[in-house]
Amino acid sequence: MDDERAAGTPAKRGPRRGVWIAGAAALAVVAGGVTYGVAGRDESPKITAETSVTPSATGPVVSADELAEQKMIAGIDAALKGRAAALQSGTLAQFLSYSDPKNAKLLQRDRQVFANLRLIGAKHVSYLRQLSFSPELRPKLGANARAVRIKMQTQLTGIDPAPRLTQVGFTLAERGGRWLVVDDDDAEAGDRGPAREPWELGPIEVSRGRGVLVISSPGEEKNGRRLVQEAVAAVPAVQAVTKRAQAGILVVAMAAPRSWAGLMTGGHPAGAVALRNVTLTNADGTEFKVTGSRIVINPTERKTADRFLLAHEFTHAAMAPLGDGAPTWLVEGSAEYVAYRLLDQSNYSNYVADERRAYRKAVKALAVLPIDGVFHGDYDENSYGVAWLIVEYIADKYGLATLNALYAETAAQTDDPVLRDKAIHKQLKLTDPALVAAVKQYRGA
Ligand SMILES: [Zn+2]
Repeated sequence: MDDERAAGTPAKRGPRRGVWIAGAAALAVVAGGVTYGVAGRDESPKITAETSVTPSATGPVVSADELAEQKMIAGIDAALKGRAAALQSGTLAQFLSYSDPKNAKLLQRDRQVFANLRLIGAKHVSYLRQLSFSPELRPKLGANARAVRIKMQTQLTGIDPAPRLTQVGFTLAERGGRWLVVDDDDAEAGDRGPAREPWELGPIEVSRGRGVLVISSPGEEKNGRRLVQEAVAAVPAVQAVTKRAQAGILVVAMAAPRSWAGLMTGGHPAGAVALRNVTLTNADGTEFKVTGSRIVINPTERKTADRFLLAHEFTHAAMAPLGDGAPTWLVEGSAEYVAYRLLDQSNYSNYVADERRAYRKAVKALAVLPIDGVFHGDYDENSYGVAWLIVEYIADKYGLATLNALYAETAAQTDDPVLRDKAIHKQLKLTDPALVAAVKQYRGA
């Protein structure tokens, strides 16, 4: 509600709060549903948009069907390679030459995607056909049309340190001896839920600041520039606590519902999400690492999202490459700690004091540290605040270096309670219940 901020306090953070996507299920969201470790099941020839390997000559005689299959795969991969090369070099005519010339709607979408990626600035674009997904027939789009699953790798200039993976589904058909894209969004092959990349959603506006790129909807450039300023103000607050920062960060703040993954927190839609950027680390396309995050703002919050919300999400982004084993209270508590510190330093110290007082009451009910599985319980408004107070206690009592060491140690682990207890004991010399007892006793720095 906008009127909450009219009183001179930041927006009430409960329902608008961001959410951090953690754990294995989230990685699937982040990577757009990329299938992990399935290389062994692939039976198609090892020819991809990236590499071309001649099928072994030592095998049995290749049948006519197999030859036709190999020819098809080679044709599809040639089209994907040409299309990606055209995107990267900025050659529109070449890009469009790999699409069905009779499909005006597809060509229009292609022109828009091309223009958007040029506007955003892409240092690297490539399509890697997923070998574990056998091309599927799409008879409605042509007698020989095939849907393929593709890992699209996009590295945005000045933002991404490495190519980020997104999964997409294309259908290609043979026309006059060449394979052309006839559908750029096959739902089944793409298997990526309702959300789309910002450059797939029609015209966009782009606003830039130091290490920040904001993508907004047409006519909303002013809000984009506002968000650049908010982001630039949030970054030092994150660095001051975490001693880490992402070199460049993309913030998506579009009106389009499909820019948003529709994630919930505590029974409410989240205000924003930090989605991990996943990068391939082997040529097979089966191993990945987190190389950063992008921030996507809930379309309903895009006009009111501020530096405090962004500080929360940027903290997640800064910590993401450390791994996803950290307990949720530490993940969310750290992000809240950064946001509340920035509030405190931004003339909102009365508001922060009120919040602290309110959450201290909730801490009283605690016997052990909040468990991951119940942290995001329905309408549990206290999880984030309680987590904030625990982290604030650790930061005040032990210092930021110890807080960050605890984060790094647990993040690199699996989410095993025994390992977590060991890390807490090593860093803080306390057991889980003793830490909670100390937080209850604590009356502030
Ligand atoms: Zn969060």
